Amino acid sequence: MSFIETDEQKQLRAAVAGLAARYGYVDYVLPRARRGEPLTELWDEAGKAGFLGVNLPEEYGGGGAGIYELSLVQEELAAKGAGLLLVVVSPAICGTIIGKYGTDAQKDAWLPGLADGSRKMAFGITEPDAGSNSHRITTTARRDDGGWVLGGSKVFISGVDQADAVLIVARTEDHRTGRLKPALFIVPTGAEGFTARPMAMDIVEPDNQFTLFLDDVRLPADALVGAEDAALMQLFAGLNPERILGAAMAVGMGRYALDAATAYARERAVWDAPIGAHQGIAHPLAQVKIELELAKLMMQKAAVLYDSGDDGGAAEAANMAKYAAAEASIKALDQAIQTHGGGGLAAEHGLAAMLGAARIARVAPVSREMILNFVSQHSLGLPRSY
Ligand SMILES: Cc1cc2nc3c(=O)[nH]c(=O)nc-3n(C[C@H](O)[C@H](O)[C@H](O)COP(=O)(O)OP(=O)(O)OC[C@H]3O[C@@H](n4cnc5c(N)ncnc54)[C@H](O)[C@@H]3O)c2cc1C
Repeated sequence: MSFIETDEQKQLRAAVAGLAARYGYVDYVLPRARRGEPLTELWDEAGKAGFLGVNLPEEYGGGGAGIYELSLVQEELAAKGAGLLLVVVSPAICGTIIGKYGTDAQKDAWLPGLADGSRKMAFGITEPDAGSNSHRITTTARRDDGGWVLGGSKVFISGVDQADAVLIVARTEDHRTGRLKPALFIVPTGAEGFTARPMAMDIVEPDNQFTLFLDDVRLPADALVGAEDAALMQLFAGLNPERILGAAMAVGMGRYALDAATAYARERAVWDAPIGAHQGIAHPLAQVKIELELAKLMMQKAAVLYDSGDDGGAAEAANMAKYAAAEASIKALDQAIQTHGGGGLAAEHGLAAMLGAARIARVAPVSREMILNFVSQHSLGLPRSY
């Protein structure tokens, strides 16, 4: 593992930052987010430039690089206030799982579109009654006529209105209860019996969340990705990238907040010197800088471990990175608001709106408490409490 990025990685950072800066937070993202409208133009342009599929195999139109590069893309987008939530889902989770476990036909059908952004796939694991306890999911697939029939429901599923399909985590009828043996199905959003109802959320965010109802959705045999009872390995092939990409989005948002705060603190003077000269303003920003850098370092470690095939090491690092990045970005936004005084709560800067969005990372894709449970149990060897 090197701490020095290659020229190619540096160029990728610069190119993504340049694209995101042309769109920007206040003029482009914020008005869209307030209307709950996706960032379609930015997504399409990023897709055409090859940024969204950097992690996917070259033979399917991707960049042939890794989760490190995809997290770098997400971080740079978010650092301009233009992070794309569906990058966490479409190329990172779904693209990775299909790339690793899909059949040749599934790869042909999906990877080129996921790589250039022309197709999107949402991801559905969360259920109303199971919540953080995925072992309690009840969405069930039964075999029928050589295919599958899927029944159940999901909540908080992001971006279903933009997606061509949702990768649904279910159980087969043979494993209806007990420890989860996940079976993953590609479910087209236009399938009969598939209903998506928008959820009323109190966050200012361009991508919307949906409740899904799967009412005897008939699927062909080849809707199943990978093995029928592939245990958790197959699922975690996608969930570790999800956590790393969530961390990247949070680190980027934190950088945006810190940039806004320091720019303001250098200019604004209400006594004789700029407010940034007061340690009451400077020190909390310096702390935020340190915490963001530490979170980023853990995110990079997680990505390097994942890309080198160390799934166990990546799981611990990805959890820690997501935890640290969420906390650092929330603190960064809160301190940026404080630095701006009353202006921090004014609509023109959108910082309070971004704080709400940064807050998502403390809950999703896995909550702060579940990460602390993971670290207590797996890293510290403490007894499981639940
Ligand atoms: C904006 C947004 C987008 C999302 N997008 C998606 C998506 O695209 N796809 C998808 O599948 N899901 C998505 N989710 C769902 C998200 O992953 C869940 O909200 C999250 O995993 C927490 O589950 P829950 O909401 O059911 O909370 P619960 O599991 O009900 O937990 C409630 C609280 O109790 C705590 N808690 C639970 N169990 C324990 C325990 N054993 N010990 C200590 N504390 C505990 C939790 O940490 C949390 O604070 C999204 C959520 C949000 C908010």
